[in-house]
Formats: sequence, structure tokens, C-alpha cells
Amino acid sequence: MDHVTQFLAQNTHIHHATPQSQDYEDLREQFIIQETRRPAIIIRPRSIEDISALISLFKAHDLPFGVRGGGHDMFGRTQVQDGITLDMRDISHVHVDKESQTVRIGGGVINMDLHRELQKHNVTTPHGVTPTVGFTGWAIHGGYGLLSSHYGVGADNIVGARVVDAQGQVRDADETMLTAIRGGGGSVAVVYELTVKVYPSDKILAGFYIYQSDDLAATIRLYNENYRKLKENDIPQALSIYQAVMNGPQGLAFVSYLVWSSSDLEEGQKWAEKVAALAPVTVNNVVPTTFLEFNELAASFIEKKTWGTIFCPGFYDLTPEVVNVIGTHTENRPNKPGLVFGIHELRREAPRENKNSVFNARDPHFLVEIIPMVSAEEGWEELLAWGQQFYDDLMKTDPANILSTPYLPLTSNERLTSEAVFGDRLEVLKKAKELYDPQNLFKHTIVQP
Ligand SMILES: Cc1cc2nc3c(=O)[nH]c(=O)nc-3n(C[C@H](O)[C@H](O)[C@H](O)COP(=O)(O)OP(=O)(O)OC[C@H]3O[C@@H](n4cnc5c(N)ncnc54)[C@H](O)[C@@H]3O)c2cc1C
Repeated sequence: MDHVTQFLAQNTHIHHATPQSQDYEDLREQFIIQETRRPAIIIRPRSIEDISALISLFKAHDLPFGVRGGGHDMFGRTQVQDGITLDMRDISHVHVDKESQTVRIGGGVINMDLHRELQKHNVTTPHGVTPTVGFTGWAIHGGYGLLSSHYGVGADNIVGARVVDAQGQVRDADETMLTAIRGGGGSVAVVYELTVKVYPSDKILAGFYIYQSDDLAATIRLYNENYRKLKENDIPQALSIYQAVMNGPQGLAFVSYLVWSSSDLEEGQKWAEKVAALAPVTVNNVVPTTFLEFNELAASFIEKKTWGTIFCPGFYDLTPEVVNVIGTHTENRPNKPGLVFGIHELRREAPRENKNSVFNARDPHFLVEIIPMVSAEEGWEELLAWGQQFYDDLMKTDPANILSTPYLPLTSNERLTSEAVFGDRLEVLKKAKELYDPQNLFKHTIVQP
């Protein structure tokens, strides 16, 4: 590490922290508390030149490093024990270009900060449901959210990337590298900045419904039965729903987050009423609003850090068999939960760009997020056992309905193979890896083709 210490002594504008530094713990912490890997040093570059110099140094001296954005990897795969954390959070610029309908987003920008800037220009871009997640870390691995069915997943909205490659060189990603970045994460480069599409967005209709929850399993069944019927009509792309069970002011409740992302709010209201009618509603919080306000609301429901993990099986359809398992395990959930489960949906109407990306989950599907999370270690073992059983029982349902493509960011390494994640896109990713990082400098990224 002497070379790094020397470099930092000559570049005092770059903030860094070692275990002796006062702010080390704050900087090291991630969303998942029990992930305790301790890097020897955390370095926060401020420019692409800083990143380039650092990557060249790491390469020359064979120093192990991980790249950190929002710190939301669920399985602690971002930081390297006794290695270096390249913490991107000081690369935090957001520049909207209305003419090209794009935004340039610094590699360490957090979703919530992105939205503060986008709102000033009355535009939006697909983003995750949780506002504290890093935008780049979310988009380059796929990126599900409440705009996926309208504008596609995060990766599909990436139109450019300025990066530092495995030679330490600054470059604009060419089409082959961009294809690998769209779904292949940080496996071929450190992303200094993404350019992504934006869409006009002034007022939207958004919020949540809380449904009668004294018999949670029955409500979940009724809602999904009716939702399947609703889907027999063509649901407009502008409508998105994320169903979840969470602990609110009235206790454990089944909720449905709704976003109507077109400017025709009158039409949106009609669809919102159909969603409200899926089961008896007790609280209606769906109002004309903005993405910024909606994200502020969503942020207020989520812990900044937590004990926990996630199980995330995918299904082509929420069949009655799957819904029954969800209902049963919602009822027997131990401890006082914040969240129990949430479900992302990629509908058949969603734009699906396959050729120019390696993100492979292209058929319409649902991702069921089983969320064993608690604010303290107490009760964790019991909760984990609950999550495991919930997952095992879901995986015993009709195999033909189980999505063959695991979602890498929300799946632990033991439950995935590159073949399953990337399918026939794996060859494309492997070729890009050979071309741009043949010596695997980026060996500590969560994608390893
Ligand atoms: C509470 C919570 C909610 C979530 N909600 C959603 C959701 O709604 N939809 C969804 O699709 N996913 C969701 N996820 C998963 C999340 O999108 C991924 O875990 C994502 O990779 C996290 O990015 P991050 O930057 O916050 O995390 P980090 O742990 O900082 O980064 C994860 C990995 O991304 C890579 N990376 C990050 N930044 C860069 C960069 N600038 N250059 C190169 N590589 C980089 C690194 O390999 C790093 O290991 C959620 C996760 C959590 C914990």
C-alpha cells in the first residue's frame, strides 16, 4: 500500500480513510450491516483523471480493489477485505441535456439526488424503487423499477458511458463495451459517467393503496386473482404497480405502490381506480405528484441500514399456486418486520432491447423479493430460516413457471451461475471481457463472466 499512500500524499484533494480515520466506519458502512469486510483504505476520487491514475497504480502494483457506489449490494460483494475501496460517491454530477433528451450521471450518484436534479428540468428516467440505491450500480446490472414497463429496464436506457478501462485509460465506451456494460456491471471498466435517456415528466399520478389486511393471505389472493383478470385487458405501459407487505402505522399491511407516468392524468385516474378495486382499500394515498415527491415518500419507508438478506426467485406468472405460498409465508413471518416481500413486474408491453445488451431476462415476468430484514441482530437467525423456507417452498412450485434467469444483484453467488444469468448473452460478455480486461483486473466486481 506504500505506493497508494505516496500517491495520496501528493494528491491531497482526494479524500481517503484508513481504519484509524474518524470517518472510516461511516464511509465503510453499507446497507447490509452484517457485511463486515474491512478494506485497508477507502479512496474517493473526484475526477476521471483521479480514477485513471488510481487504476493505473492498482494495476502496476497488483493491488486488490472494489468499486463502490451506493453500497446496496445485498451480499457484501463490493468491498475487499484488506484491499482498497474505490468509493465513487464524490463523482456526483448530474447534467441534463434537453436537446438530446439525455442526462449525464456521475458514477457515484444516488437515485434520490438524481431526482432532485431531474425534477428541475421536468424530466425523468427509469430508476429503482428504493431512492438510496446508487444509480450506476442499479442500471449496469439490469435495473427494475416503476418505469420498467413504460420505458424498459435501466440498462436499456444507457446510451453512452465515459469510463476508465483496465489499462487505466480514459475513454468513451464503444458499442461493444456499452453492450457489456448494459447488464454486465463493472466487469469491463470503472464507470465514471453514464449517459441515459430522459423522458418528459411534469405531474404524475403516484402513491400507494393500503388494502384491508386483517386476513393478509386472503387479501393477497383476492388482489392477485383480480389483477390477473385486469391483465386480460391491455394495461397501458404508463401504469406500474409494486405490491408489497410492510409494517405501517396500522401494523402489517398489504400495499400496492402505483405510478402512472403519462401526462394524461384523467386516464391515469381511471386505471388507478381499477387498481384500487382489486381488493377492499382502507387508505388511498394516490395523488397527482412528481417523481421527486414520490421518491421522498418511498425513502421515508426504508431503513438506511439493516440486518438482512434477500431471496429473489422469479416467475413467468403469479399463479394461484405461487400466490398461495406467498400468502402462507406472509402470515407466519416471525419478528416485527419492516418489509415482508415486494414484487417487481416486467410486463409484456415493456420495451425490450436485447441485441445491444447482455441483460437476459426478457420474457415478461415477476421478481418476488423475500425480505428478511431487521434493525438489530436479535431474531436474525429465526428470520433467515423463515426466508429460506419461503424461498424453498416457492421453488417447489411448477418448475415450468420459474424464471430461468436469476437477477444477479438480488441473488447470492451460491444460487447462480453465469450461464443462468446471461444465457446466450454470456458469449457476448465473455468476448468483451477478453477484449477489454483479459487479465481480469476487475476481479472484485459482482459480475464474473
Ligand atoms: C434496499 C434495496 C432496494 C433495491 N431496490 C432495487 C430495485 O428496485 N430494483 C432493482 O433492480 N434493484 C434493486 N436493488 C438492487 C440494487 O440495484 C443493486 O444491488 C445495485 O447493484 C446496488 O448498487 P449500489 O451502487 O447502491 O451498490 P454498491 O454495493 O456500491 O455497488 C454494487 C456493485 O456495482 C458496481 N458498481 C457500482 N458503481 C459502479 C461504477 N461507478 N463503476 C463500475 N462499477 C460500479 C460494483 O461492481 C459494485 O460491486 C435494491 C437493493 C437494496 C439493498
